[in-house]
Amino acid sequence: VSAANSGRIHQAMVTSLNEDNESVTVEWIENGDTKGKEIDLESIFSLNPDLAPDEDIEPSPETLPPPASSAKVNKIVKSRRTVLPAKNDPPARDNRVVGSARARPTQLPEQSSSSQQNGSVSDISPVQAAKKEFGPPSRRKSNCVKEVEKLQEKREKRRLQQQELREKRAQDVDATNPNYEIMCMIRDFRGSLDYRPLTTADPIDEHRICVCVRKRPLNKKETLMKDLDVITIPSKDVVMKTKLFVLIMFTARPLVETIFERGMATCFAYGQTGSGKTHTMGGDFSGKNQDCSKGIYALAARDVFLMLKKPNYKKLELQVYATFFEIYSGKVFDLLNRKTKLRVLEDGKQQVQVVGLQEREVKCVEDVLKLIEVGNSCRTSGQTSANAHSSRSHAVFQIILRRKGKLHGKFSLIDLAGNERGADTSSADRQTRLEGAEINKSLLALKECIRALGRNKPHTPFRASKLTQVLRDSFIGENSRTCMIATISPGMASCENTLNTLRYANRVKELTVDPSAAGDIRSIIHHTPNQMDDLETQWGVGSSPQRDDLKLLCEQNEEEVSPQLFSFHEAVSQMVEMEEQVVEDHRTVFQESIRWLEVEKLLLEMTEEVDYDVDSYATQLEAILEQKIDILTELRDKVKSFRAALQEEEQASKQINPKRPRAL
Ligand code: ADP
Ligand code: MG
Repeated sequence: VSAANSGRIHQAMVTSLNEDNESVTVEWIENGDTKGKEIDLESIFSLNPDLAPDEDIEPSPETLPPPASSAKVNKIVKSRRTVLPAKNDPPARDNRVVGSARARPTQLPEQSSSSQQNGSVSDISPVQAAKKEFGPPSRRKSNCVKEVEKLQEKREKRRLQQQELREKRAQDVDATNPNYEIMCMIRDFRGSLDYRPLTTADPIDEHRICVCVRKRPLNKKETLMKDLDVITIPSKDVVMKTKLFVLIMFTARPLVETIFERGMATCFAYGQTGSGKTHTMGGDFSGKNQDCSKGIYALAARDVFLMLKKPNYKKLELQVYATFFEIYSGKVFDLLNRKTKLRVLEDGKQQVQVVGLQEREVKCVEDVLKLIEVGNSCRTSGQTSANAHSSRSHAVFQIILRRKGKLHGKFSLIDLAGNERGADTSSADRQTRLEGAEINKSLLALKECIRALGRNKPHTPFRASKLTQVLRDSFIGENSRTCMIATISPGMASCENTLNTLRYANRVKELTVDPSAAGDIRSIIHHTPNQMDDLETQWGVGSSPQRDDLKLLCEQNEEEVSPQLFSFHEAVSQMVEMEEQVVEDHRTVFQESIRWLEVEKLLLEMTEEVDYDVDSYATQLEAILEQKIDILTELRDKVKSFRAALQEEEQASKQINPKRPRAL
């Protein structure tokens, strides 16, 4: 043994074998003290060639290809595979090795080499070294010291390499990652790509409909689950760079210009829950951060106030207002007014109004940020599972320009409900079913409305959902622009949802249709006659514009909407319409009842007079009772039909084939 730095040579005894780093611990007596040292097997073998096992058996890390080279990764897999089984040797075998090494008095090269061929580190029998006293002959002293030092260096180098390899493995060359090979393929693919990311220097294309994709980074949970980032963004032509400021330039700014030019703009985020819709639209709300200044709402507002200062627009004396509401299960709630439920009405001129929606005037960006904060806390408050709820509702933030009170332009920014299959329609409880139905329907309707806008089609099926109904004015008119931001999760686990999102995005942007097909859509929907049809006359909803639009919607998406699903959607919309009417009628009856009570009270007081007019009393009482009976009977019948509609919906929900070929 060459003691550290001293150059002295001692005889030493091997006291233990360290299998994990292929070394032995040796001890010797020096000036009466016991000293020790760790020596790697390689040094021992090169100093004592007769102890060394046959060569080229044990794959040492130096024979591995450099870990960083992606082209050689497959080789690593292979060599790793040959190394790995050794670590998983059955215990019995290990025992045999250790036991035999101790028991064997002499080396049996055939045995040890044959066991080494199995790749087991522990199969080498270095304990033999302990039996020998291996002091090198004194004439080789200086050579030996050099040799040892060289070996030492080599060992250090190898240790470093091993360390690097281990770190690399921990990162991505992870033996336990079942998707290792896919990862290699992705890495090779990425290596072969010519990246041309979008920059601020790129010109802004003016499109009526713009579709972009935003990918968020893998989150902690996904990383922990060893999920892979399977999304590659190769160039500006395919998808947009994920940097928000670039995204904004290409989306919000042209849209803001549009509203100053008396137009309508819409920007919406579409994607599965957790893919970054709220983050993109509203800003960063993760953890304690409540930073809405980087979301598109705020950035759009910033552009609005900048534009307002331009001489051209300054002279128009425009006023800026904001609204913020939520659409959940086909119902509208005002987020700036303690979530008050609002009614959506359409007047004779097809103008849609959200009755009572609060429009707040905003004078600067800070005002807008405050409103976003108020709205967001309102959106998620009072919910046991805040995210679960908000992921099933659409949030609409609007920036409205008015000139002397008259509408000049409107920018609607929408954080849509998640598009995942979870929002399905075959659930056991009605609330979830309605939620799912409304989401499916409104996302389909939105797509069709944008496509209609892009093709300048005369008819827009906006009545098919509440979302498209309240956004109706954005889908018509010459000067309308829309931007869709498809948000996607990068993980492999989200693959199916991501594909659905991209499919939807693709449908929104593809505007060329076969013109002959557009005029002649064959009806594939076989709607079975049902109780509903009998009620059409009574309710006056048989051929309602809502129903027609729904039908159109389903026909245009026949691959996604089975006939059964269409029947279900019809039953749902029928039911929702009925619900509204029943509640409205009930309210009327309730108001009437108060009036009746007053009249009846007077009548009863009348009878207490000594000489009251019996004729008049009886006539009045009869009139009031008849009125009551009429009104109550009507309400009762409606409630009966409504209950039938509830059952109808329940039946229809059971008919839906759960294995629809594709989600949205
Ligand atoms: P969604 O609204 O689609 O359900 P969120 O916007 O709430 O999804 O995003 C889910 C989580 O991912 C949040 O914690 C958010 O902070 C984070 N996240 C989303 N997009 C990004 C991004 N581009 N960069 C960093 N984190 C993001
Ligand atoms: Mg969200």
